[in-house]
Amino acid sequence: PKKHIATPTRTKEILAKYKFSFKKSLGQNFLVDVNILENIIKHAGIDKDTGAIEIGPGIGALTEQLAIHADKVVAYEIDQRLLPILKDTLQDYSNIDIVHQDILESDVADTIKMNFRPDQAVSIVANLPYYITTPILMKLLREKLPVDSLTVMIQKEVAERMAAKPNSKSYGSLTIAVQYYTQAEVVMNVPKSVFMPQPNVDSSILQLVTREKPPVHVENEDYFFNIVQACFAQRRKTLRNNLTSHFKGTYDKETITHMLDDIGIDGIRRGESLDMGEFALLANGFYHAVN
Ligand code: SAM
Repeated sequence: PKKHIATPTRTKEILAKYKFSFKKSLGQNFLVDVNILENIIKHAGIDKDTGAIEIGPGIGALTEQLAIHADKVVAYEIDQRLLPILKDTLQDYSNIDIVHQDILESDVADTIKMNFRPDQAVSIVANLPYYITTPILMKLLREKLPVDSLTVMIQKEVAERMAAKPNSKSYGSLTIAVQYYTQAEVVMNVPKSVFMPQPNVDSSILQLVTREKPPVHVENEDYFFNIVQACFAQRRKTLRNNLTSHFKGTYDKETITHMLDDIGIDGIRRGESLDMGEFALLANGFYHAVN
């Protein structure tokens, strides 16, 4: 059998053959550990019936493992220099489609429709470029794609924020945004040594399982996310004070205090103590008062 791409030796060989130089600006840190890749695939729940979408295949380390374990893989890569390399490294696999596109500009819903059966389970899997982790994940979540899960390697601190629980340091508006759409769990911390070149930050594998419907009812999603953000604007401040700043020119502090009383949430609490249900209550209450 052929050697896997995801080993230090093979990766160095490929990089040398194509005189490839890493672009830091594209977040290029390639995985060189097959065990880690198999862990990602296991947590992604990939089997031979699954359709897989990958973001940023690099030289194909994860793409290869996806091709082995899934039915079909579609991978988006922005760096043109990698296209001839991928053609070479993945030549033995007939179930891979490489799309030369910026994931932030792409129509993933259309790609799913064109490449997978309507009843097919689809998973998004990626070792994401760190510089745009949050924009990529928020784009994919907001589009409410018909995917079962997103399993991604990202910066440890960001993974912790996305999977955080109330009353913890990592809990914030990003937590609410991600958990509104998915059930989030950090499944594994990963040492820097599994990457080439090694990044400056620690990494974790984050698993996001898509919810069939949001866990709370909100009257207006944009309004809800705005209020949540306002409640965390200054972490040390009370809800009353953060909301007073947010509604400056519309409501004064006294009015805000009354509104919070009516809603039934104590204004001297801090944003980090509210769970998603309480944020929904709060946002819906203000939404009805205003509209
Ligand atoms: N999957 C490979 C691996 O694990 O070895 C490479 C992962 S590397 C962390 C991130 C990859 O994403 C790079 O190949 C990079 O060129 C690509 N990339 C960066 N920005 C992108 C974007 N906006 N759209 C698509 N791919 C992107």
